Amino acid sequence: MKHFFTFSETVQQLAEKAETRAKPYFEQIEKNTEYNQQKVLSAFIHNRIDEACFGATTGYGYSDRGREALDKVVAESFGAEDALIRHSFSCGTHTLGTALFGVLRPGDTMLSVTGRPYDTICPVIGIAGEKGQGSLADFGIHYKQVDLTGEGKLDLDGIQDALRADPTVRLVYFQRSRGYTLRPSLSAEEIGRAAEAIKKVSDAVVMVDNCYGEFVQTVEPTETGADLIAGSLIKNPGGGIAPCGGYIAGKKEWIEQCAYRMTVPGLGREVGASLGNNRELFMGFFNAPHVTGEALKTAVFAAALFEQMGFSPTPAVDEPRRDIIQALRLQNPENLIAFCRGIQSGSPVDSFVTPEPWDMPGYPCQVIMAAGAFTMGSSIELSADAPLREPYAVWMQGGLNYHSAKVGILRAAEEVLKRQSRT
Ligand SMILES: *Cc1c(COP(=O)(O)O)cnc(C)c1O
Repeated sequence: MKHFFTFSETVQQLAEKAETRAKPYFEQIEKNTEYNQQKVLSAFIHNRIDEACFGATTGYGYSDRGREALDKVVAESFGAEDALIRHSFSCGTHTLGTALFGVLRPGDTMLSVTGRPYDTICPVIGIAGEKGQGSLADFGIHYKQVDLTGEGKLDLDGIQDALRADPTVRLVYFQRSRGYTLRPSLSAEEIGRAAEAIKKVSDAVVMVDNCYGEFVQTVEPTETGADLIAGSLIKNPGGGIAPCGGYIAGKKEWIEQCAYRMTVPGLGREVGASLGNNRELFMGFFNAPHVTGEALKTAVFAAALFEQMGFSPTPAVDEPRRDIIQALRLQNPENLIAFCRGIQSGSPVDSFVTPEPWDMPGYPCQVIMAAGAFTMGSSIELSADAPLREPYAVWMQGGLNYHSAKVGILRAAEEVLKRQSRT
């Protein structure tokens, strides 16, 4: 057989050991994938998806059969009463922002219980210093937060105290994924236990930023007690096929409110031409459980490989996974650069590009990124980001299929080893 890629003896041996170490975790991932794939397939069958669902509407987009059917498929797959999935959500932040504005009204308070939210959500809330852009704060909606405990866990007592002290809290906000921190990501069960504690003292809406979490477990937060979840289609639920978009799922009453914010009061979900995007959204959502499984295998393999090389992965190989993100502490900026260059060189698109650290707006230090994706900015495709500062960690995620993503990871390992042997 022909060798399309050559790796040093060292990398080949490390890879073999890493794969052996990863095997039992791959088996668990495959089981989850099979369960989730059946869940989604059965939702397609129940909702009688047919070719007419892939037709395009234009103009107002009234009675778009595919759009309406896909909302039902997503709701059923996530164990939710209702859902909105649209190509017209620009990104995850737009989708999450729509849900926040959909539920909250002037005088209400939003309570984040996972500390400060993901960077791009802060200007939506109005806590990033921007003024006059029409943030929640500009509309008289207040913000409070309860930080995670020292171990990165939810502070249930602190949350209940905050709710008892402030009856204006209308929405309690969770971020399931670690984002670009090293705290552990939250499981649907942990969110469920917190939701139960919240409902004891408040009737606030429990909302979860579910980005990177979809199909990682066999339940979604909507099945364990969350009222609303939202996420991006260029991550897990787009299956690497959706070209853009987002989804919101949850209780009917709140989805209705979100629909009025998504378009305008009066029209809500009755309008919104699909313009021929339905087929890709259906196909992407159908493939999402499988692709998420491939991304998880890629993450476990990377953790096992870099552990062999003496670096510490978070989560560790044997830790349960709640999202597709893998952080690797690579000890110095040179290793971060070498890692990202290796990932880039093993990508199907833009493999010849050399990533350079740059001054990314909003960051106090330089950041280097690797992304060789079919969809611009897609992070269900193999990608990596690293701010060049302590703790010198790279956050990597994605992989449309394990076999190709493995090449990217091996190239990254090779680059890091090469750099180390030079010093
Ligand atoms: C990706 C992501 C978002 C949304 O980001 P976009 O770049 O706007 O899609 C929000 N929260 C978390 C935790 C994310 O990972």
